[in-house]
Amino acid sequence: MRILIATSNKGKLRDFAGAALVYGLTVDGLPDFALLPEAVEDGATFEENARKKAEHYSRFAGGALVLADDSGLAVDALGGAPGVYSARYAAGEAESGNSKDAANNAKLLRELETVAEAERGGKFVCVISAARDGREVVQFRGEAEGVILREARGAMGFGYDPLFYFPALGKSFAELTADEKALVSHRGAALRRFLEWARTQPG
Ligand code: IMP
Repeated sequence: MRILIATSNKGKLRDFAGAALVYGLTVDGLPDFALLPEAVEDGATFEENARKKAEHYSRFAGGALVLADDSGLAVDALGGAPGVYSARYAAGEAESGNSKDAANNAKLLRELETVAEAERGGKFVCVISAARDGREVVQFRGEAEGVILREARGAMGFGYDPLFYFPALGKSFAELTADEKALVSHRGAALRRFLEWARTQPG
C-alpha cells in the first residue's frame, strides 16, 4: 500500500517512514505539497486540526488516501500548553539565525524554570487523520509520556525532542534513532493504529 503524507516537516516524515518500515511499507510525501494552498489550522483540538489538514490536502490527491497529523506537547504544569500551539509557541521570538524549534525550546525552559522535578511531567500527542476526496475516513490518536528536562540532550529528532526525557529508555527523544523513536513515540503509536486498520480494508 502506498501512503501519502501531507506534511512539509522533514522530522515528521522521517518519523512516519521509520514507523511504516516496521510493517514493510513505504511512505511518500504528497507530490508538490509545497505548491498547494495551505490548510487552515484553526481548530481547538488536535483532532479537529488533523481532520482539517487531511480533508484539505486530500482534495489534491486524485482519490488517494491522504494522511495528515496534528501533534504537540502538553505539559502538566502549564495546564496542557503549548498543546495545539506547539509549532508556534514562541512565535515572533526567533532571533535571526535561530530556528523556530530553538525559540520554542528556549521558551519552554523559561516557563518551567521554577517548576520542581516531580512536577515536570508532560506528554506528546499525535492525532492522525486519513481522508479521501475531502472527507475524513478515519482518525487515530497516540501519546507518549515523559519528563521535561532542564537542558537539551541529543541531536537527533526535531521540535521539542531534546527536552523530552523518556524514562523507560533513560534517554531524551533526541537521543533515539528514527527506528527507536518509532517504537515508543506518539506518532509511531498513532501510525501503528492506522496501519492495523489499513490491513483490514479491502484492496
Ligand atoms: P503541527 O505541525 O501543527 O502538528 O505542529 C507540531 C509541533 O509540535 C511541531 O512543530 C513540534 O514543535 C511539536 N512536535 C510534534 N511532534 C513532535 C515530536 O515528535 N518531537 C518533537 N516535537 C514535536
